[in-house]
Amino acid sequence: MSEIDNLRDKIDEITLEMIKLLKKRTVIAKEIGTIKKDLGMNVTDEKREDSLRSKVVTLCSEIGIDEAIGTRFLNFLLNESIKVQTTSKQTHLSIFLKAKSLEQQGKKIIHMEVGEPDFLPPEIVKDALEEVYDKGFIKYGQVKGMPRFLTTLAKKTSKKYDLEIKQENIIVCPGARYAVYLAITTLLNPGDEIIVFEPAWPAYKDCAENAGVKTRTIKTTLENNWEPSINEIKETINSNTKMIVLNYPNNPTGKILQEKIQNEILDLAIKHELYVLSDEIYAQYSYEDWKSVLSYNYKKAIITQSFSKSHSMTGFRIGYAISTPEIIEKMAKLQAICLTNVSEPIQYVAMRALEADTSNNSNIVKARLDIMIKKAKEIGLDFVKPDGAMYLFAKVKKDGFDANDFSNKLLDHGLAVAPGGGFGDFKNFIRLSACQDEKKLVEGMNILDNVLKGRK
Ligand code: PMP
Repeated sequence: MSEIDNLRDKIDEITLEMIKLLKKRTVIAKEIGTIKKDLGMNVTDEKREDSLRSKVVTLCSEIGIDEAIGTRFLNFLLNESIKVQTTSKQTHLSIFLKAKSLEQQGKKIIHMEVGEPDFLPPEIVKDALEEVYDKGFIKYGQVKGMPRFLTTLAKKTSKKYDLEIKQENIIVCPGARYAVYLAITTLLNPGDEIIVFEPAWPAYKDCAENAGVKTRTIKTTLENNWEPSINEIKETINSNTKMIVLNYPNNPTGKILQEKIQNEILDLAIKHELYVLSDEIYAQYSYEDWKSVLSYNYKKAIITQSFSKSHSMTGFRIGYAISTPEIIEKMAKLQAICLTNVSEPIQYVAMRALEADTSNNSNIVKARLDIMIKKAKEIGLDFVKPDGAMYLFAKVKKDGFDANDFSNKLLDHGLAVAPGGGFGDFKNFIRLSACQDEKKLVEGMNILDNVLKGRK
């Protein structure tokens, strides 16, 4: 046998041995998963992961293997463990689906679980829907969006932030969710790490997991006013860290970062050349000072925006991302593979929607939040007053409280709320959404109060 055949046989042997070890590891991970579930523990344990990471780093240096490769391999294994340990968790979406099926059976439900404004899109949208057929925006189009729409968006954004945004800086997507997916999937590689502050909208973590990217969560707390610790961010950044996600005004807490803290985070990102994915879909719902990440002019920033909340156009599925032409090009490649282009009629309608003044939407939501805040105080919920967005993320101070069970119980009484566990390790929190009219919100808060106090 030639030398190369000999070596190839060895490679085969080692690879098969590694697969057998992977099997052994997965079986143990599953066992741990069952125990964690029985004990009500979180799937991800950052401390354990960190300790294993240190051991791997030490081993890499001892045996002379590139640390970046060793830790990438570790991240693959950690993600596999998370996959086998994760059982379907209850989120705002699962409660929404349950509520919908109850409604089909004739039950009346007050929806305080989803972030979907109950008001209509601007009137102009109705005209645009009628005229789009005659205008002929009904064919295949450019992958990054209709040039007319892109230039309108570029002009509007440049004016709003006093910047020079061009058509090449924008990609129109079917919703901000898809823009987030494109950014994470195209800019990162398996084994890379992304930093997410929790509580968080779950899609960042889900997209990362789907792309083989490891999420490092930095937990923020009600007690610390939902502020991330700069030190913790510094300690979390390593050679695999490639992106940091910001979402302010935040879903679910309504937090807007103080400018000083945001500046510090951007400084760190710039120093370590990290991508900054800033999901700014609640920008219009800012009740305190808020600064767009666009203002930093950082070449590795990606800003996601949407018509869902600002124009109450959730069902139209339209949003966009702003970044450098190089990053937009990368995202466009995947968008071309997946969907050719965003529906032209919808792009036309969204373009017309930009002509409307939607500033009153934020006044409406703010007034509703104020009502919810007042009621929540009366009920005795613990929360930080939101600076923006459309939610109240509240802690229920009750021994043994489990938001999952509680959300199901509330459904029986006609109220849908989002359990905190959908946003991270927040089992004693619920997210209440201010997307219904005042009367319904008060009714909903009364149901909440009665069920909490055991009167129902
Ligand atoms: N980002 C955040 C923070 C959200 O809360 C949501 C929707 N709830 C989205 C993005 C998705 O927006 P879109 O409807 O544009 O996909």
